[in-house]
Amino acid sequence: MDLLDTLTAKGLRGEVPTREEALAVLATTDDELLDVVAAAGRVRRRWFGRRVKLNYLVNLKSGLCPEDCSYCSQRLGSKAEILKYTWLKPEQAADAARAGVAGGAKRVCLVASGRGPTDRDIDRVTDTMAAIKDADPEVEICVCLGLLSDNQAERLKAAGADAYNHNLNTSENTYGTITKTHTYADRVDTVQKAHGAGLSACSGLIAGMGETDEDLVDVVFALRELGSDSVPVNFLIPFEGTPLAKEWNLTPQRCLRILAMVRFVNPDTEVRIAGGREVHLRSMQPLGLHIANSIFLGDYLTSEGQAGQADLDMIKDAGFEVEGAGEATLPRHRADVAEAAAAAGSCGSAASACGSGGGCGPCGGHSHGAPEAAPVTEGTDDGLREDLVKVRRRGAGTELAPNA
Ligand code: SF4
Repeated sequence: MDLLDTLTAKGLRGEVPTREEALAVLATTDDELLDVVAAAGRVRRRWFGRRVKLNYLVNLKSGLCPEDCSYCSQRLGSKAEILKYTWLKPEQAADAARAGVAGGAKRVCLVASGRGPTDRDIDRVTDTMAAIKDADPEVEICVCLGLLSDNQAERLKAAGADAYNHNLNTSENTYGTITKTHTYADRVDTVQKAHGAGLSACSGLIAGMGETDEDLVDVVFALRELGSDSVPVNFLIPFEGTPLAKEWNLTPQRCLRILAMVRFVNPDTEVRIAGGREVHLRSMQPLGLHIANSIFLGDYLTSEGQAGQADLDMIKDAGFEVEGAGEATLPRHRADVAEAAAAAGSCGSAASACGSGGGCGPCGGHSHGAPEAAPVTEGTDDGLREDLVKVRRRGAGTELAPNA
């Protein structure tokens, strides 16, 4: 297929496809799916070999958010019966983080619900990072606290944070239908602040919210333009009690096409299968590993994933290996750019100039006001799989051991 030959050749050279080529990936048929996965797999192996980076989420503060992100189970007015608790103590968070690291994670993602941190919150996270790094000096720490004010990114960087997550989530055009309490531009601003402080930028998207193919391509190109070093691809978990509870728009095949499109547009960037992996890829998860080079181990912020051991078994059975703490995730040419940017305290980790920003991580999801864009119907799933959505009842904020 000419399209896939072209995309593979470009990906192997680290070149970005055209917007039309990216759209064409999303329009491929199920008969072409394995060819699409194989082509994206060649690009993935060129830059990341057979390594899978494991990341571990610690929800420092759950629920009770004043923001209204439609997809989020922690949002204002959410009726989802998730765990709700205020800030974990540093030792509690460090205990959860230790479990993830012992399970094979090289990055710990410290996430707190909320519009953005106060300076006191930055102090709390500083203490938490110190507790984690005391036990595991090598562990990478990514922080996700929402919208940043001036100098907060610099404080996090000075305190030992390696990265900051703030997802763009969807296209600029549809952002206003997903969230009313802040803007796409606010998210861009925070990613730029993080980048400007020398933090590695982690910014991604959520698929399955009723967006069009054009929206998906828009946000993925925007992330490329922003210079995100890691791109988490979330598949909407339609939590009961959220505005998007009935948005079951994804099939495993569509998820794989979306992952492949993200890979072709970000050939040498960490592409992470994030929230919704088990719910939407289901038994096709191992095929996703041929495209993405990173996943979350164990549970998510407000929902449970499959057992951590099942993640490890899947990686091994599919012929991949867990990336070690001493191994670089990004290809050398990307790491050099990121290090130079960090040293200079300015953005520029990806191939292009920065441009936009993002927000909190793979939060669960519920909201208000479904998007106005026409839902994608081709290749979609009209069956509700509510049975697959499991609210998290273990790990951080509970008396039960974390899943790792
Ligand atoms: S995504 Fe973040 S800011 Fe939005 S409602 Fe959820 S916790 Fe709040």
